[in-house]
Amino acid sequence: SGAIAFKDVHFAYDPKRPILKGISFEVPAGKTVAVVGPSGAGKSTLSRLLYRFYDVQQGTITIDGQDVRDVTQKSLRAVIGMVPQDTVLFNDTIAYNIRYGRVSASEEEVVAAAEAAQIANFIQSLPEGFQAMVGERGLKLSGGEKQRVAIARTILKAPPILILDEATSALDTRTEQEIQSALDVVSRNRTTLVIAHRLSTVINADEIIVLKDGVIAERGTHGELIDRS
Ligand code: ADP
Ligand code: ADP
Repeated sequence: SGAIAFKDVHFAYDPKRPILKGISFEVPAGKTVAVVGPSGAGKSTLSRLLYRFYDVQQGTITIDGQDVRDVTQKSLRAVIGMVPQDTVLFNDTIAYNIRYGRVSASEEEVVAAAEAAQIANFIQSLPEGFQAMVGERGLKLSGGEKQRVAIARTILKAPPILILDEATSALDTRTEQEIQSALDVVSRNRTTLVIAHRLSTVINADEIIVLKDGVIAERGTHGELIDRS
């Protein structure tokens, strides 16, 4: 379950400057579709519309055939997991931050999620900046480690739908590869919408949508798009 369909989606933050001008594509259940394009093309806007931070102004977005406008944001949050570009951590342990994905999870499940994201060795530590308040030694987390906390949280939540919004864009190449393999595990068999800057990071997507000037400029597999360019 969790098939997503964007149909003739139009959206503008400012009515004088349309961002999305009739976008139609599907993410079949369990598949991964990547949206790439230049900065400002409207990629993140698509994910915000799916999540109902904003609503489409024309067209529809459906999940398993149901218009997202008929679904509360709370219900959407239950089925959609988001790994954002920049993760903001709560003022508490890494374990607590992971548990936020599913507060009813057992300790074993939290540890298993941390292991899958390769951060099990410091789950009892606090993020830097918060240690002063509680008088414990804080841990300075790199961008990659913060992303792993977000990934562990998402592994624990195990939502049917995943949005990965430039989840590896801030990382160096080696960290990016490590995080990418953790993300590949999370997204296997889940309906996944990947937002990316570059084609090279979405080689395994079932389909790639290239957004440009508010429309779909090109679409195909990585191999097809490379052959045409
Ligand atoms: P991308 O993810 O492709 O970089 P975005 O979807 O974030 O693009 O943004 C598309 C365009 O909409 C950009 O020109 C951006 O400046 C503009 N934009 C994004 N968010 C807002 C907002 N809240 N209000 C007004 N304009 C916005
Ligand atoms: P959810 O309730 O499904 O977690 P939210 O919209 O509240 O959805 O948040 C989306 C994602 O952003 C969360 O899964 C979490 O990773 C992160 N997040 C949201 N709010 C916070 C916060 N205050 N501190 C840290 N992370 C947060």
